[in-house]
Amino acid sequence: MTKISDLLAAGPTYSFEFFPPKTDEAARELEKTVSELQPLEPSFVSVTYGAGGSTRDRTRDVVTHIQQDAGITAMAHLTCIAHTRQQLVSLLEEYRAAGIENILALAGDPPADPTVDPGDLRYASELIGLIKGVGNFAIGVAAHPELHPRSGGDRVADRDYLAAKLGQADFAITQFFFEPEPYFRMLDELADRGSDKPVLPGIMPVTNAGQVKRFAELAGAEFPPVLAERFAAVADDPAAVRALGVDIATDLCAELLDYGVPGLHFYTLNRSTASREIYANLGL
Ligand SMILES: Cc1cc2nc3c(=O)[nH]c(=O)nc-3n(C[C@H](O)[C@H](O)[C@H](O)COP(=O)(O)OP(=O)(O)OC[C@H]3O[C@@H](n4cnc5c(N)ncnc54)[C@H](O)[C@@H]3O)c2cc1C
Repeated sequence: MTKISDLLAAGPTYSFEFFPPKTDEAARELEKTVSELQPLEPSFVSVTYGAGGSTRDRTRDVVTHIQQDAGITAMAHLTCIAHTRQQLVSLLEEYRAAGIENILALAGDPPADPTVDPGDLRYASELIGLIKGVGNFAIGVAAHPELHPRSGGDRVADRDYLAAKLGQADFAITQFFFEPEPYFRMLDELADRGSDKPVLPGIMPVTNAGQVKRFAELAGAEFPPVLAERFAAVADDPAAVRALGVDIATDLCAELLDYGVPGLHFYTLNRSTASREIYANLGL
């Protein structure tokens, strides 16, 4: 298969993010989504990992299935908090044996329960070192244009840590954002620190304004008041909310492509329609 670092070197990538389904019905839905997105020839897809290892086997099974059976390069997300080194090494060895070559290295959220063992590693940067010890993976990391939710607002430290982490990795993918300025500013701040690795913008098409506002709060991303007003004006009409969400995401993608981003990474929530409509609008 293929390393994402090589795909990025060859030109813009177009990728989709999924989460591992919990039920048989959700699994069938994801299967349908993957088959609907296949004709778009995604550069790669990625599959999230539940903090603390709650989706360990499901993430592994979905990543392996998509790569081996659908023939799409698949990246596994992996969080290190609340894991032992040995647990992480075992899972990475399984990925290596299955031909998975791309890992998104994440810290994950600290356990809310103080009695849970926090594990052997604390930061994504430590996980990168461990991954390199297991195999020759392409390694991505998370970037937060509007600062990491745990940064405490310390912009300089946040960007210093991000630049150091990205220096050890091959590329980053951002948390979603709705206006491009925070992303452009983050790229400038990384360049000031000598970092020129590709940073893929994460795109979340709004299909349900209330839901996305909640996600944004959790992810430390601002849901801009002007957009909230536009959604409020059509709040009673779900089809109009969806159409507006697709239009807004299309405009954002067009602006990012004009700027020369290394690719676009779509948060799909395991559905294909919004991404397919944006593709069509952009003429991709
Ligand atoms: C594209 C993308 C995909 C994601 N996928 C998942 C997923 O699958 N599963 C999941 O649970 N979460 C996921 N997340 C969320 C992310 O993992 C969370 O924000 C998590 O809480 C932190 O992980 P991190 O890798 O960003 O942390 P880190 O980069 O390790 O940073 C954590 C915090 O510690 C600080 N820090 C870093 N290094 C040091 C240091 N040496 N000393 C002191 N402070 C330091 C950072 O500034 C930051 O505030 C994803 C996020 C993005 C953007």
